[in-house]
Amino acid sequence: HGWWRNVPIAPKDPILGVTEAFIADTNPNKINLGVGSYRDDEGKPVVLQCVGKAAALIDGEFQSGESDLSFVTESVKLAYGENSGLMQERRVAGVPALSGTGACRLFAEFQRRFQPESSIYLPMPTWSNHHMIWRDALVPQRTYRYYDSESKRLHFAALMNDVKNAPERSLFLLHPCAHNPTGIDPSEEQWREISHLFQVKKHFPFFDMAYQGFATGDLQKDTKALRVFLNDGHLIGCAQSFTKNMGLSGQRVGCLSILCADERQAIAVKSQLHQIARAMYGKPPVHGALLVSKILSDPDLKALWVHEVKGMVDRISGMRTTLHGKLEKLGSSVDWKHIVKQIGMFCYSGLKPEHVDRLAREFHIYMTYDGRLSMAGVTNANVDYLANALHEVTK
Ligand code: PMP
Repeated sequence: HGWWRNVPIAPKDPILGVTEAFIADTNPNKINLGVGSYRDDEGKPVVLQCVGKAAALIDGEFQSGESDLSFVTESVKLAYGENSGLMQERRVAGVPALSGTGACRLFAEFQRRFQPESSIYLPMPTWSNHHMIWRDALVPQRTYRYYDSESKRLHFAALMNDVKNAPERSLFLLHPCAHNPTGIDPSEEQWREISHLFQVKKHFPFFDMAYQGFATGDLQKDTKALRVFLNDGHLIGCAQSFTKNMGLSGQRVGCLSILCADERQAIAVKSQLHQIARAMYGKPPVHGALLVSKILSDPDLKALWVHEVKGMVDRISGMRTTLHGKLEKLGSSVDWKHIVKQIGMFCYSGLKPEHVDRLAREFHIYMTYDGRLSMAGVTNANVDYLANALHEVTK
């Protein structure tokens, strides 16, 4: 009975804790802007039509466990580009992963094993779980500057400085599109400069792509950062998640890929990734991967998916415009332009912890303490209430 007496309660997760507080609140006006998953204009989670159709198609199919082969190929094509030639060269070591989180964790384990002296450079700020993932994989962490809270813009000069001053051959985590939490991405020209500096410094870019499609509404345009790095001949790593862009949060579908110098390396890397996964959880479940590979390989389903992604992104950006307009109408003295300038699912509002506290206590509106609000939780029904609350607490 004394075995676990010394186990303290784990600190609350900064993101999941918000949902707990939201659920406990009984006020009918309550709004959850904490979690970054898509909601429709009624605030409900959405099952995409392409997913429903794919589910009907795969129902009768044999689920052999080998089906991940086409899943990985299809995912890699989606990220690296159909015609990039890399597929023919067989240089990409890709494995199915337990969604984006699992892909990151698998990579972190791989990094510790095969670059044991290395650390990981994370942007400041970043998704809070990145810190926990690399911590638990026992990889030392550094940060690089990314966001300037004064101008609410990319701190490009500081970013370049930190990339330059990192020791040669450092590993960097980059968000290729729809940066979480800031909603700010480098421009294509800036990506070129970053890529060039990475070449000079021989750094390794690891792309965590959890929101492909959510930056521009176009899945291909959202891979421009990868394209720039691939054109420059970098070897890269990439974590892909289908949680957001296919609305599959319950299925945990992701892919980890590592572009190697040649086929021999890719075979070795893949075998090691499989072995690390095998000792942790074996393989991820196949159902979600089958759904994704069906959608990606069937032209009609793929076209429907592309259309539905655009629909989600359009709704979110429409809400940005509406919210911004309402705040201006209320005569807010705060400059809220960043609501419409930022992209992806989040608005990094600049609200301080005391504002976040007041919004929760007085207005039953919940978000993370860094002032990140999920635009996917904003609807035509609650946007007036939200604008008014934001105006009140920032008066
Ligand atoms: N990376 C980033 C930047 C994310 O925001 C998220 C999800 N919040 C993930 C990875 C993990 O996504 P998944 O739900 O697929 O594990």
